[in-house]
Amino acid sequence: MCEHRRIPYGEGVKYINPRVSFDGLSWWISVGIEYPDNIEIPTNKGIGIDLGIEKLAVVSDGTVYKNINKNKRIKKLEKKKKRLQRKISRKYEMNKIKTKGGECRYEKTKNIIKLENQLKKLNQRLTNIRHNYLHQITTEIIKRKPSFIVVEDLNVTGMMKNKHLSKAIGQQRFHEFTRQLQYKSEWNNIKFIVADRFFPSSKTCSQCGSYKKDLKLSDRKYICSYCCGSILDRDYNASLNLKNYGQELV
Ligand SMILES: [Zn+2]
Repeated sequence: MCEHRRIPYGEGVKYINPRVSFDGLSWWISVGIEYPDNIEIPTNKGIGIDLGIEKLAVVSDGTVYKNINKNKRIKKLEKKKKRLQRKISRKYEMNKIKTKGGECRYEKTKNIIKLENQLKKLNQRLTNIRHNYLHQITTEIIKRKPSFIVVEDLNVTGMMKNKHLSKAIGQQRFHEFTRQLQYKSEWNNIKFIVADRFFPSSKTCSQCGSYKKDLKLSDRKYICSYCCGSILDRDYNASLNLKNYGQELV
C-alpha cells in the first residue's frame, strides 16, 4: 500500500486485532482500526459524475479521469495474460489421456501448476493496479469536500449483454468505483445520491433543460437545438445534469 494517509493515524486512533493469512498465492495482513467519527459537514458545491468507456469519469467541476485500460502498462499485461492462457490450454491438450471408453482425462502436470500460479499472480496484479487507480480517484474526489455526489444508476448487467462492450465495461469496474465513492462519502458526511435509472442525463440540455430525443451514441458533443444553442462535450453535459439532479433533491 502506498497511498499517503490512507490509514488513519494520530490521537484517538487504535489498531486492534492484527491477523496474517495466506490465500495460496499471497500473504495478507489485516488490522482493525478504530478512530473518532468525522464530524465535519462539507459545504463545497455538490458534484455530478458521468461514467463511461472512452473516459472513466467526467466530473461536473471539469476534471476528467482517463480510462486506465488504454494505458501501455495494462495493455502489455493483458497481452501477456492472453499468451499465458493459450500456453496453459495447449499444455492441457498435450497431456490429455484417452481412457479405454474413449473419454478424455486432463492431467495437471507440475509445469501446468506452475503456469497456473503465474496466471493467478498476473490476474491479481491487474486487479491491484485497477483498484489502486480507483482508490486514488475516489479519494481525490472526496478530498474536495463536496456537499453531495450524484452518480448514474448504471444498468451494468444490461450493458454486459452487449458483446462489443462487455469486456471494456468489465475492465472499468464501475461497481467498484461507486462502491468506494459511497462508503467514502458516508465516512465524510457527504450525501451520496444515485440518480433514477430513467433520468435522461445525456439527452437533456444542462443549460436550458430542453430535451433532445435524437441524440445518438456517436454524438460526442451536445448541441442544443433550442434557443439557448449551447454546445458542450457530451459527457460533461451529462455530469452537469447529474449535479442539477442532486441540487434539486438537496
Ligand atoms: Zn439548451
